[in-house]
Amino acid sequence: MKKILLIATGGTIACKRTASGLTPLFTSDDLIAYVPQSKIFCKTDAVQLLNLDSTNIRPEHWLMMARCIRENYPHYDGFVICHGTDTMAFTAAALSYLIQNSPKPVIITGAQRPIDMEDTDARINLLDSLSYACCPDAHGISIVFDGNVIAGTRARKMRTKSYNAFSSINFPYLATIRDGHIVHYIKEDITGCPAFYDTLCSNVFLLKLIPGISPEILSLAGESNDAVIIESFGVGGLPYGEEDGKESFLSVARALLQKGKLIVMATQVVHEGSDLGVYAVGHEAEELGLLETGDMTLEAAVTKVMWILGQTKDPDTIRSMFTTTIAHDRLY
Ligand code: ASP
Repeated sequence: MKKILLIATGGTIACKRTASGLTPLFTSDDLIAYVPQSKIFCKTDAVQLLNLDSTNIRPEHWLMMARCIRENYPHYDGFVICHGTDTMAFTAAALSYLIQNSPKPVIITGAQRPIDMEDTDARINLLDSLSYACCPDAHGISIVFDGNVIAGTRARKMRTKSYNAFSSINFPYLATIRDGHIVHYIKEDITGCPAFYDTLCSNVFLLKLIPGISPEILSLAGESNDAVIIESFGVGGLPYGEEDGKESFLSVARALLQKGKLIVMATQVVHEGSDLGVYAVGHEAEELGLLETGDMTLEAAVTKVMWILGQTKDPDTIRSMFTTTIAHDRLY
């Protein structure tokens, strides 16, 4: 029988009602007790790593999760992390960079309603996750939610309340699970040993453009961080300034690049990705040498930059690592 380690970190799945609102209080053992049917197909041990609303998750918690999996890797066939849905997509992406090429599955799941509620989605999500963690064709980091399996680098929380909270962005679902039956759409063969990483640089800023935004904001963000990801409009571009014409954003970006800062162009539009070369406003940013997220999710772009800057500060290596596909994170 497969051995699975359940790692509890909090989230709605583990919440109890309190006078001040839902608070994660159920323990990892409590969670397992709610899915007794899983004993038919796996033996589950549990560890309580954190008990947080995922609003409070920080990069050091991603390192804790990766370390917990690394230490327990030889002893289990798969891992299920119970996590809040609000930052689940960031955690899934971060773990996809911290644990690469893992033959054993690392599943992240959670719920929109606490596990003790009658109409909860928690019990089915947890049961599906445990069953997927036992599947011989499951590898690497993924989210299992509402019957869908999403690559860890491709998830986005799209709904705040409905059970189908997550979508796979610019990439197909890896698999679906209906009544316990798993149908794989994307099969990979991962063998050998995983690569674990234990450093991240969290000095990364995400700047969302709005019409009329001052280039001064980019300057301030760039001065106090190692990298700025600019969430631009549509396929991507940098706005021209009101006073000093088109040089304003471009000249701030140029000055930051000269100081060794990393600037990445992304898009606010969820589907279909950036394509800087299309319009003059983007072409100029491209010519300057800014990196581009292409079809990556913002969650993957942010955590990939954190991972890369945790490994190197060399501009050529950064460019090559950012544009290399890792765990399905980008097709272009
Ligand atoms: N605020 C909760 C969290 O992310 C929401 C959830 O889990 O659904 O921890």
